[in-house]
Amino acid sequence: MEKIKAVQIVKPGELKIVEMDMPHIDETNNVLVKIKASGLCGSDAGIYHGTNAAATYPRVIGHEIVGEVVETGPSAKKVKVGDRVIIDQVTACGHCYACRHGRPNVCQHLQVRGVHIDGGYREYMAVPDKDCYLLPDNLRYVDAVLIEPTTIACQACSRAQIAEDDEVLINGQGALGTRMLSIVKLYHPKKIIVSDIFDEKLEYALQNGADVAINPKKENFFEKIKDVTTDGYGPTVSIDCACTKDSLGTLIQASGNAGRVITMGFTTTPTEVTNFGITAKELDIRGSRLQNRKFQQVIDLINEGKVDLDHKISHVCDFREAQSGFDFNDTHDPSIRKIVFTMEGEPYKVRKDQ
Ligand code: MN
Ligand code: ZN
Repeated sequence: MEKIKAVQIVKPGELKIVEMDMPHIDETNNVLVKIKASGLCGSDAGIYHGTNAAATYPRVIGHEIVGEVVETGPSAKKVKVGDRVIIDQVTACGHCYACRHGRPNVCQHLQVRGVHIDGGYREYMAVPDKDCYLLPDNLRYVDAVLIEPTTIACQACSRAQIAEDDEVLINGQGALGTRMLSIVKLYHPKKIIVSDIFDEKLEYALQNGADVAINPKKENFFEKIKDVTTDGYGPTVSIDCACTKDSLGTLIQASGNAGRVITMGFTTTPTEVTNFGITAKELDIRGSRLQNRKFQQVIDLINEGKVDLDHKISHVCDFREAQSGFDFNDTHDPSIRKIVFTMEGEPYKVRKDQ
């Protein structure tokens, strides 16, 4: 039987390049995709380190998956051989309460590619045609990977119900925070505030639509929040793209009355919040998980010129050298905006994207 290579997290802390059977199309998984690139996301690093509460092992990780359609079954209508596609990572039961209420991203029996079932750090995948979305024509595969984190940003913004009189705080300006900024600004809120502990990232955010930047390592976060929001009200929408143990408490404390606080983290480390902190301001604390059919929306935004994903990634790495990619990611070097694994050509370790 023909074999393909894959990156498998055998157990927390142990990454292996393994061989697995070549996938074949069938009635359900009626499209064979030759994977071209797959992004390294914070949640992939969490699965590698054993801090992602949702993951099961051993697992072929990777949920930011783009490639070329190389074979289709008779029931596949949405795509054809030669199409460049991104694959939706969410698979749902279609019957539970969440699914019945149009929220398959939190299906009771949710199976996320690269988390609960095998994902995209491999050479081929067989998937249903309904989970494939056509890439914009001139977008490189390595850049198209960023469509996925952009869908995550769209989901958080829809959960936050951003309006034009909102003052929005985006906590964290890593890969997710950057994508969040690109979507938040399309809502034209009154003000966009970003916070991060790296000045380089804040500088980049200011050049890309943020109005105010806060570095909590260098200035008093709560004082600055008061200073920069109208009448010291505090942000009316706070989105946590840093997802550290304490960021939820911080955002609750910073938030203005009647505000929304959006959580996106996967840590299970307890943190202290108080009833009064939420009740007194009548805050909405809302989780935002994955994305609910947002791929086409993001692709449309790119095709309309409202979202630009060209050359936003920082590093590329052959997937067979994934260990070096994960090790480099662990250095938290401020030059890292996004590391993307590629599946073509000679193996090479992590290097700057040109
Ligand atoms: Mn991701
Ligand atoms: Zn369901």
